[in-house]
Amino acid sequence: MENHSNFIKTIMIQDLESKKHNDIITRFPPEPNGYLHIGHARAVINNFELAKNFGGNTNLRFDDTNPGKEDVEYVNAIIEDIKWLGYTPSNIYYASDYFGEMYERAVLLIKKGLAYVDDLTAEEISRTRGNLTTPGVESKNRNRPVEENLQLFDDMKNGKFKEGEVVLRAKIDMSSPNMNMRDPVLYRISYAEHHNTGKKWCIYPMYDYAHPLEDAIEGITHSLCSLEFEDHRPLYDWVVRETEMPLVPRQIEFGRLSIENTVMSKRYLKQLVDEKKVVGWDDPRMPTLSGMRRRGYTPEAIRNFILGTGLSRINTTVSTDMLESFLRDDLSVSTVKMMGVVDPLKVTITNYPEGQVESLSVPFDVNRPELGNRTVYFGRELYIEREDFIEEKPNKNWKRLAKDIEVRLFHAYFIKCTEIIKDEQGHILEILATYDPETKSGSGFDARKPNGTIHFVCAYQAIKTQFNLFGPLVFDGETPFMERLNPESWVKKYGFIEAAFNEALPTKSFQLMRVGYFTFDKVSTKENVQLNRIVELKSSFQK
Ligand code: ATP
Ligand code: MG
Ligand code: MG
Repeated sequence: MENHSNFIKTIMIQDLESKKHNDIITRFPPEPNGYLHIGHARAVINNFELAKNFGGNTNLRFDDTNPGKEDVEYVNAIIEDIKWLGYTPSNIYYASDYFGEMYERAVLLIKKGLAYVDDLTAEEISRTRGNLTTPGVESKNRNRPVEENLQLFDDMKNGKFKEGEVVLRAKIDMSSPNMNMRDPVLYRISYAEHHNTGKKWCIYPMYDYAHPLEDAIEGITHSLCSLEFEDHRPLYDWVVRETEMPLVPRQIEFGRLSIENTVMSKRYLKQLVDEKKVVGWDDPRMPTLSGMRRRGYTPEAIRNFILGTGLSRINTTVSTDMLESFLRDDLSVSTVKMMGVVDPLKVTITNYPEGQVESLSVPFDVNRPELGNRTVYFGRELYIEREDFIEEKPNKNWKRLAKDIEVRLFHAYFIKCTEIIKDEQGHILEILATYDPETKSGSGFDARKPNGTIHFVCAYQAIKTQFNLFGPLVFDGETPFMERLNPESWVKKYGFIEAAFNEALPTKSFQLMRVGYFTFDKVSTKENVQLNRIVELKSSFQK
């Protein structure tokens, strides 16, 4: 996955060849107001991989200029998620550490006659800004003398105004065709406590002012951001130029990543958490990196998916199938094959001696003998998957068990159903079967062919298990997203897994043959075993 090329890499190569830069320095700049999601992974991975290509550096920088919404819980979660993806930031910085320098540069702008304190309300500012066909109307405060602006800005900093009473605005061009250039707000007042600077500041820089300065202070060469900031680029350049920053970063936009049936905005994800529609940010259905990790996604799968879907200048929506196929590619080589029964049907082998159990030594992976063997048990009472049995074989495509039909049990024997036991409502309670000792797996028996091969567990040793089967949390659609929640996004099934799960396994996740890839949920204990289905074995297209 090292050779992915994209338009940003091309720009970086040119900038190195022309000696514009000697090194590549990128950054990933999350706002610590939520957990990272798979969309953020596109930005994380590309920033780190691009710099790595050229032996460069990547900073993790918390863009913490919005005290009301930010929290150290998010800071810590973001650090952990990036580490999990396999990246080590060259530095971890906080935009709030630059508040002093940002303030000084704002004073410089005022002195240059390029910024003014305005007491219009937010609503008035927005209204007088005009629109694409009408130029904006200049504020009555626009030509306030420099000395007065310096005094008022100092007053702002010293807490002499209430929230929303005044702002500092850039003096650029109220009739610019780019709305962002119509005297944007640079500073606002907030008395919220900041997670890093506490009560030290009560004025906070706006994103469009803060971000270019953060980049320039850190010597970022290529500042990658998502497409919605394209129109902000002239302002970005204006800020760097007019504040006279010595190092000049270049903003480059890339397309955002969306995945079908996946809500990906932190605001919505936070709402799901706050309204308890999910068990937390790391709910295994969430598209957050912590949720995906808990579900059983591997960082390799996510990295391959992000690099495999590329980086382009347009927003892209990819199918869940695409994400899952990268996941399966990784799980198929990083897991071992085990057995578990999600929806058990009891089978009694009537010709097997009562109370006797035999141990079968079975490799974890026939193709990887170095992983060793486990013990699979076989005895008089077994469980098979309810959907692997039908009373009467309907047609020749039915390759499972039915009355008077013989199937192979993986790693064990052929069994044949002889009788069905039902309750008064006709619901199947149990089936009786016979086994043929001649057909033991590995014996080379080939006198008859079974009607398919199914998985099973031995009832005596089986471990009771809750299986968590997941579907999309939210479906795509036009109605408000809270109305599109999938009521069946978390289905719980109660069954059994084979005894070998009591021992140390060679891998963290595993395939349950024919059922899917699974891993233990974080709340799973010896007494209350819970497995998460990471993904099914095949895409729904292939079934
Ligand atoms: P959200 O809209 O989900 O809240 P955000 O863009 O506000 O995300 P930030 O914390 O500002 O969240 O994101 C940090 C970086 O991650 C930004 O550079 C942003 O462009 C990028 N990013 C966020 N979501 C996506 C996405 N879906 N695809 C690509 N990049 C993304
Ligand atoms: Mg943002
Ligand atoms: Mg956002």
